[in-house]
Amino acid sequence: MEKQIFERPTITKLNPGVPSKHGVGTVIAPMPMVDGVKVDELLDKFGSPLYIISESTIRRNMDEIKRAFTVRYPKVQMAWSYKTNYLDAVCRIFLQEGSWAEVVSGFEYDKAIRNNVKGEHILFNGPGKSAAELEKAARDGAYIHIDHFDELFLLAGICQNKNIEARVAIRVNMDVGIYPKWDRFGFNYENGEAWDAINRIMANPKLKLMGLHTHIGTYIMTAEAYRIAATKLAELAYNIGNKFNHHISYIDMGGGFASRNTLRGAYLSADDTTPSFEEYAEVITSAIINSQIKPDKLPTIILETGRALIDDAGYIAGTVIANKRLSDGRRATIIDVGVNFLFTAFWYDHKIHPTIQHSGAVEETTIYGPLCMNIDVIRPSLMFPPMKQGDRLLITRTGAYNNTQWMQFIATRPNIVLIDKDRNAHIIRKAESVEDVANNEVIPKHLE
Ligand SMILES: *Cc1c(COP(=O)(O)O)cnc(C)c1O
Repeated sequence: MEKQIFERPTITKLNPGVPSKHGVGTVIAPMPMVDGVKVDELLDKFGSPLYIISESTIRRNMDEIKRAFTVRYPKVQMAWSYKTNYLDAVCRIFLQEGSWAEVVSGFEYDKAIRNNVKGEHILFNGPGKSAAELEKAARDGAYIHIDHFDELFLLAGICQNKNIEARVAIRVNMDVGIYPKWDRFGFNYENGEAWDAINRIMANPKLKLMGLHTHIGTYIMTAEAYRIAATKLAELAYNIGNKFNHHISYIDMGGGFASRNTLRGAYLSADDTTPSFEEYAEVITSAIINSQIKPDKLPTIILETGRALIDDAGYIAGTVIANKRLSDGRRATIIDVGVNFLFTAFWYDHKIHPTIQHSGAVEETTIYGPLCMNIDVIRPSLMFPPMKQGDRLLITRTGAYNNTQWMQFIATRPNIVLIDKDRNAHIIRKAESVEDVANNEVIPKHLE
């Protein structure tokens, strides 16, 4: 047996708080740094609150998901889900890591083009594409993922009138054992609608059927659901090959892998319940490899993973504004981060860490944001050390959806910085000013 390396023992002061009949309270470890950069110094320099994004974490997550799938399957392509976080710097990291772009609107499509994504590397999803957007996407050679028959007929008409071709896939919804079913997007598998759409596309010389797409939902905690989805799509792909001798080039499994944020009210921490990329990869690749599709005709697996790749790369640092006692005696702490900047507080119990060690009794605390609205609650209840006015804290796993679903409500949005691998902090979105918000407003002559 190899000899263990000697490590010097260290002594750490414990701050467990006051024991109750359930034992001692949860210890909240301070988090002074993000990627080796001091949070307090970032706040001094860039103001509070502040969004912080870790470039290394994004790249590490991409390495992990790519490894999980490519060791199990020969052809895998990632496509970055723009609506999860479409900050240009973030999108460009994913592009550097080899991702295509997955967009769900004309706005996101234009953003992807501006970020140097080639048209033929854009997957255009969503139920609301306009005629002009469809035509542009067809001309660019983007993959248009058709959502419903009206869109199919609209696109067919455009291709006919303009004498152009379009590369298309259909979005398929199906019963994967998760309820309520996400059946409002795409064509249904079980009732034959998807097969009907496929036949109509195959009969149209202007529409080139390139793939099949599904997105079964978001924050899917049972990997098994993906096995069902992949099995059904593989069966469709096989039937297309059989009937038309046409072999689609990809099966797009969409996004929806759970991140390690704990859902509000969940009993167990998501650290213990979230499936790993390996678990998702195992069920998806085995369903497709074990299908009837011949080995030389295997389609590329496309993944549009969003939150699971970026959630833990994002942080919001903030400052305590005040403490007070609620009428029932409970402690309340008001911080400068509200739900306008942390939309995901509505469904996650985000972890919050002080940036320095606080001694004193840990007690049940409600964390409020600074907005004048009752729903501005960041954490309804958590065991927290006493923090004073001006103390700093760090909210973790905020990278997904907060920079796209944020609200411009009674305040302008703060700076966003990216920490690169050499510990440099770059502003990637400047704090807004009153002018930024007011510039698009127009005052009629009689109100000047
Ligand atoms: C939102 C979305 C994604 C990303 O979903 P996550 O749950 O963030 O992984 C992928 N594909 C489509 C079509 C989407 O609408």
